[in-house]
Amino acid sequence: MLENASNNNDNKNKVIIFSAPSGSGKTTIIKHLLKYFPEFEFSISATCRKPRQGETEGKDYYFLTPESFAKKIEEEAFLEWEEVYDGICYGTLKSEINRIWGNDKVVIFDVDVLGGMRLKEYFGSKALSIFVMPPSIEVLEARLRQRNTETEEAILKRLSRSSLELQHAKHFDITIINDVLDTAVEQTKTNIQDFLKH
Ligand code: ADP
Ligand code: 5GP
Repeated sequence: MLENASNNNDNKNKVIIFSAPSGSGKTTIIKHLLKYFPEFEFSISATCRKPRQGETEGKDYYFLTPESFAKKIEEEAFLEWEEVYDGICYGTLKSEINRIWGNDKVVIFDVDVLGGMRLKEYFGSKALSIFVMPPSIEVLEARLRQRNTETEEAILKRLSRSSLELQHAKHFDITIINDVLDTAVEQTKTNIQDFLKH
C-alpha cells in the first residue's frame, strides 16, 4: 500500500516515468534532469543482476540475490516487477516510492517498457510517461557497444528485445527522439515543465 505524502504542494504525488529499449539514453537524460529539477528524486529499483563497474548499492540499484528478490515478490513488496531478461528481474519497491514522497519529492522512474506501461496505468493523470526513442536500431546497437558495460551475450539479449519494446512507444504520453542529446534533454524539460504546471 502506498502512503500519501504529507506535502501539500501542487506536485503532490506526481511521478515521471522513463522507458526505452536499453541503450536509448534514458539514464543519460535522467542524470541531466536530476541536476536541473531539485524537486526530483530517482526511484532506485531492485535487481538481481550483478553491479556494473562504477555502480553503487543503494544509488544505482538495490542489488539483491535471486532468493531475496523472490522473497520480496512473495511479501508483495513490489509495486511492479519484471523479468526483463532471462533470469534477470527488476522491480519497483513500494517502500521506495513512500521514501521519496516522504521527502516531498517527485518520483522519477527508469523502468522497462512493460513496467512503464504498468506504472502509468497505476498512477494515471499523476504520471507523465516518456518513451525515449533511439534514432535507429543501428545507433542503438552502436551506443550499447560504445557504453562498453555488457558482454556480447547481454548486448544481443538487449537488442533482441528492442524491436518489441519500440512497438509500445504509442502507449506513452510523449516520445522523445534521442538523437542530439542536448535537444532531447531540452525537449524533455519543456514537456515536464508543462506537466508540472497542470
Ligand atoms: P539506457 O539508460 O537507455 O540504457 P544510457 O543512458 O546508458 O542508455 O546510454 C547508452 C550509451 O549511449 C551511453 O554510453 C551514453 O553515454 C550514450 N548516449 C546517450 N545519449 C546519447 C546521444 N544523444 N548521443 C550519443 N550518445 C549517447
Ligand atoms: P540495466 O540492466 O541496463 O540497468 O536495465 C535493464 C532494463 O531494466 C532497463 O530497460 C531498465 O529501465 C529496466 N529496469 C530497471 N529498473 C526496473 C524496474 O524497477 N522495473 C522494471 N520493470 N524495469 C526496470
